[in-house]
Amino acid sequence: MDDTTNVGGRDRLGRFLLAAVLSIAAVRWLRSGKRKRGLLAGAGALGFGFNATTSYCGVNDALDIDTTGKSEEVSIDFDDSGDETAGDADTSASAGTAGVREHYLHCAFCGEPIVAGQSRGPNSQGDIVHEDCE
Ligand SMILES: [Zn+2]
Repeated sequence: MDDTTNVGGRDRLGRFLLAAVLSIAAVRWLRSGKRKRGLLAGAGALGFGFNATTSYCGVNDALDIDTTGKSEEVSIDFDDSGDETAGDADTSASAGTAGVREHYLHCAFCGEPIVAGQSRGPNSQGDIVHEDCE
């Protein structure tokens, strides 16, 4: 959810303009005593301003609308090699002992790679192992 942008291009520009127009209207209405109208316009201005600056719109999200131009998600299918890549995980344990260049730490106890963020620590022999393997 962190990189959800679904407002872009003309949609975004339109929201900028709407935010500008609504904020002007809000100020005018509030000054002339039309409080309810002014507050509504102000809320709208904030909403559209938010959409335009963050490129995210909750309504777009709910309706599955994306105007950023990336349009349909381009999903590259690795179906053909799917089985092979899945097998790589298994071979990494033995590859560690075979002297293949290691990109990451391996657990001295179970031989599985220790992924960044996984809790690890030295065991009684001073080898780095998974916390669970100590
Ligand atoms: Zn381990």
